[in-house]
Amino acid sequence: MAFDYDPGNVFARILRGEIPAKTVFENEHALAFHDVRPQAPVHVLVIPKGPYASLDHFAAEATAVEQAGFLAAVAEVCRMEGLEPGFRAIANTREAGGQEVPHFHIHILGGRPLGPMLS
Ligand code: C5P
Repeated sequence: MAFDYDPGNVFARILRGEIPAKTVFENEHALAFHDVRPQAPVHVLVIPKGPYASLDHFAAEATAVEQAGFLAAVAEVCRMEGLEPGFRAIANTREAGGQEVPHFHIHILGGRPLGPMLS
């Protein structure tokens, strides 16, 4: 599958510093910030700094170092936000998967009992 990436998307603009975000954590390969419309007491988005449109794009084309840096950021956010009791991590993927922003991101949700999987 060929993957396209639109550099005008809102998360690319956050990475370029063109619009603000409430940063939680940052490393060389990833940025984590609070979702502007939180669905749980903790709702953080983790995004890679590279130009990847979706989870499968990231898996196919990001280097092992980028992937490791991204997962390290996810783990660090969960630690910083006190999510040891449990959390949900979601990557909506393309339109049919409910993805609105075409820059790969993982939602980290927690801070309350979440129950069974979302619809
Ligand atoms: O997975 P999906 O693409 O649907 O989620 C995008 C998320 O990005 C939404 O939860 C939305 O609230 C969030 N968002 C944000 N800051 C923006 C634009 C969108 O946190 N400036």
